[in-house]
Amino acid sequence: MLCRPPILSRASMRTIGLIGGMSSESSAEYYRLINQASKRRLGGHHNVPSLMLTVNFGEIEAPQHRGAWGALGEQMACAASRLEAGGAECIVLCTNTMHRVAAAIEDAVGIPLLHIADATGAAVTTAGLSRLALLGTRFTMEEDFYRRRLEERYGVAVLVPSEPDRKIVHQVIYEELCHGRVRDASRDEYRRIIDGLAAEGAEGVILGCTEITLLIESRHSALPVFDTTRLHAEAAVDWALSAGC
Ligand code: GLU
Repeated sequence: MLCRPPILSRASMRTIGLIGGMSSESSAEYYRLINQASKRRLGGHHNVPSLMLTVNFGEIEAPQHRGAWGALGEQMACAASRLEAGGAECIVLCTNTMHRVAAAIEDAVGIPLLHIADATGAAVTTAGLSRLALLGTRFTMEEDFYRRRLEERYGVAVLVPSEPDRKIVHQVIYEELCHGRVRDASRDEYRRIIDGLAAEGAEGVILGCTEITLLIESRHSALPVFDTTRLHAEAAVDWALSAGC
């Protein structure tokens, strides 16, 4: 039986279910940001209830690079179902890349998936911008599951770096940031790439990988920054506290 201990449940709060571990470095940011945002909103010692299920990224990364998206969809669906069974009332998938299999999650559970591209697209719309650079893994930059959602739902034209620069962006994510390594030399490379995209007409840059927040802050970028980790975490808190629940 699912319990709702009074200490966790104010009538107006819903429980956030986080699929974490992709990587654990960015999941820690989600946890920090969600609790910071909920405390800011609620005051005192209050925070929004949440569950995080941490998957083993060692069993995710290799199938990603083999293109085994069907098997990965099953893993994500299983993680989401476990969160739902544990009392989660929404799913927050703490990675842009794995939204490649968002449909498998949505098919597996009866609670909503708060899509990271929606949190991002809404922020871009609010800022009144329409031509955005996108940095992320190769999967996010090169396949259409992410950019199509931004284009179709939010009218955003997406610019990605050149092939050699996409390779750099991807390698820094998997070989450094996912291991918690933050290097000035890599930040300089990202800055150079952002400057190049600005020269091509980008009005802002989407940090479309949840680890990039560790490397790039607004002060490092010539363009306005849309940090998907922060936007997604804030959207989750908004949802958990939204009226009508
Ligand atoms: N956290 C990353 C993202 O937002 C990359 C790791 C992964 O492949 O899930 O895309």
